[in-house]
Amino acid sequence: MDINALKLLLPPPIEQINLIFSKDKKINIDILRLDKIHPHISGNKFFKLKYNLIQAKQEGKNELLSFGGPYSNHLHALAALGSAMGIKTIAYIRGDKVENACLHDCKNYGMELHFISYALYKKKYDTDFLMQIQTRYPNAFIIPEGGNNDLGKKGCEEILSPNQNENYDLISCAMGTGTTVKGLMKNYQGHFFVHAPFKNKDVGYEILEKEHFKGKLFLQHDTDFGGFGKYNPALINYIEKFKENYNIALDFVYNAKTFYYLEKFLTENKAYDGKKILHIHTGGLQGNRSIFQPAL
Ligand SMILES: *Cc1c(COP(=O)(O)O)cnc(C)c1O
Repeated sequence: MDINALKLLLPPPIEQINLIFSKDKKINIDILRLDKIHPHISGNKFFKLKYNLIQAKQEGKNELLSFGGPYSNHLHALAALGSAMGIKTIAYIRGDKVENACLHDCKNYGMELHFISYALYKKKYDTDFLMQIQTRYPNAFIIPEGGNNDLGKKGCEEILSPNQNENYDLISCAMGTGTTVKGLMKNYQGHFFVHAPFKNKDVGYEILEKEHFKGKLFLQHDTDFGGFGKYNPALINYIEKFKENYNIALDFVYNAKTFYYLEKFLTENKAYDGKKILHIHTGGLQGNRSIFQPAL
């Protein structure tokens, strides 16, 4: 099956919200709704998988194998994409065997799941370990965790068309591996607000500062919520208020924190008053099922 037969909502819609800071301060923010491109293959993960899938086909591989945590948006998208394309998918999952809504979906999409220890999972980029896996699955095309490779980046270069990029003074996006932001940088030379949802301030700089645009990058780490995947009542409240005010759901790992810190940043930096700002909504809403019941 051709990848174009997936009925993706491309290009994804851009919606505008009026972020209200106070009585006399409102800022228009455009939101690129990657969360809307497909009900199951959501967000930036489709773009990261696209060229991996094409490459797999070119190499005559008929299985896709990858790595992730038990609530991985990447594995969820991979399973859904594989199922839609009639390709078998295999996952190595970090930690003890668990059951949850994400893995339940993955299994329903026909994904084969293997749980491995944290120690073994750390070897996910190790050549010997990957060779062992390849020997076990000779027909599998192996995709790194999060779709973090050059093919993933190439797909992310297509998130924004070149003429869309020019209109913005600031683009806001969350980073995990940084693949998405690096892809976005290809055509966009303006300023970036990037949220790295980690407590460790080293994560992120090394990855992004190497890229071509020093001085235009505002990298914000998670100072208020405890780090990756952590949340507290203030964050939950932020997500609920956001949904109430703008009718847009945010995932608690990436987009909610990015918006929260973007608001702070815009409050402190008057330079962007009246400027054109775009937030890339990278999706990830399936992961909210780990904390919201029923789902938002
Ligand atoms: C994976 C993911 C990211 C991070 O993307 P990277 O390319 O790894 O930086 C951001 N947002 C959501 C919702 C994700 O699932």
